[in-house]
Amino acid sequence: MLLKGARLATFDPPRVDDADLRVEGERIVERGRPLASGSGEDVLELEGALVMPGLVNAHTHLYSALARGMPGPASAPRSFVEILQRVWWKLDRALDAESVRLSGLVGAIEAARSGTTMLIDHHSSPSFIRGSLGALQGALEEVGLRSALCYEVTDRNGPEGRDLGIEENVTFARERATVLARGLVGAHASFTLGDESLEMLARAVSDTGSSLHIHVAEDRADVDDCRARHGGTVIERLDRCGLLASRALLAHCVHLSPEEVQVTHAKGCWIAHNPRSNMNNAVGYAPTAALRRAALGTDGMDEDMFAEARAACLKMREAGRDDAVPATLQLVAGGHRLAAALFGLPFGKLDAGAPADLVVLDYRPPTELHGDNLAGHLLFGVDRSHVRSVMVAGRWTVRDRRMAGVDAAAIFARARAAARDVWSRMAAL
Ligand SMILES: [Zn+2]
Repeated sequence: MLLKGARLATFDPPRVDDADLRVEGERIVERGRPLASGSGEDVLELEGALVMPGLVNAHTHLYSALARGMPGPASAPRSFVEILQRVWWKLDRALDAESVRLSGLVGAIEAARSGTTMLIDHHSSPSFIRGSLGALQGALEEVGLRSALCYEVTDRNGPEGRDLGIEENVTFARERATVLARGLVGAHASFTLGDESLEMLARAVSDTGSSLHIHVAEDRADVDDCRARHGGTVIERLDRCGLLASRALLAHCVHLSPEEVQVTHAKGCWIAHNPRSNMNNAVGYAPTAALRRAALGTDGMDEDMFAEARAACLKMREAGRDDAVPATLQLVAGGHRLAAALFGLPFGKLDAGAPADLVVLDYRPPTELHGDNLAGHLLFGVDRSHVRSVMVAGRWTVRDRRMAGVDAAAIFARARAAARDVWSRMAAL
């Protein structure tokens, strides 16, 4: 396929160029201006539409896709731990095979429509553990998205729930890797995991050659619990168990000091920054000025990375950072670097050899657009309404604003019915 007449925007370093792209199989094979079409080649005239690499959501929870508009708990939570206990730990328990699959489909459709081509998901469904990652993978591949999936291991469902969670991670990471999917080893957080469980997780990471995906110091409660019960910081505890290994993905890190962030980076860990979720849960603000190996995630609030990036930038501004615009673009590009580390492919590039994961945007700005002001356009102009088409691994996921592989209206109708059932099961818990 030949994509002609595009304005190609890449983030690291920020660049905007007019060029054509040739896609064969799963990759971009040629970039130039102009490229001549071969005989029988599918040619798409883009007429100056903006093309950029697909966005990466570095930390999400697809299982929350059916929570939109859900009634709140009978008594309002007064702390982060009460939010988990009264909302999310009831929702995940109420999920069954059908609602997990529908959550995956709905979240993936929303992501694709928002220009996101890869989701790094952290899944939990204690009533349906075995086979849950395969169900999510099936949903994501039906829609046509890349993913890195894991099951959230925790002690809160007893040893049986914990062991099933570890088994689900190991089985998936070993057996289910495809062109579009990778397995990670998921863990909830230090405050819901005993030492024996952390040792089992470390073994799962080394047995699978995969990496850990865990919530770290999202709320002060995680830090306080660690100091009280384990006599040290969360970072020291994870390090003691050998879990701060290369490519480990630490979500939030709100209550780490800049020095602790440096320790995680020196060990090769990545940090997922989720500013909208942190504001929504009123847990505090991560030390963003210290972030180097970091990317943005939505933490399941929605799958809109344009909205997350804009919020990240505004929150940095509010915190007094005068480099908020370029720093946010670095976090967006960080998603591509993280994806590259997980898949071993050069994400974030629109050159020969790069995976053909890209977004076509109907974005015709009222002011000049070039590499020097790309970040300003991305953060204050572009949004999900501009997404026209999305390609993942050389295949259209969205084409001219229509989902290419699934019937979104029918899926959303089924999701509405399933959500009613999930909410009523929650109310009975
Ligand atoms: Zn999370």
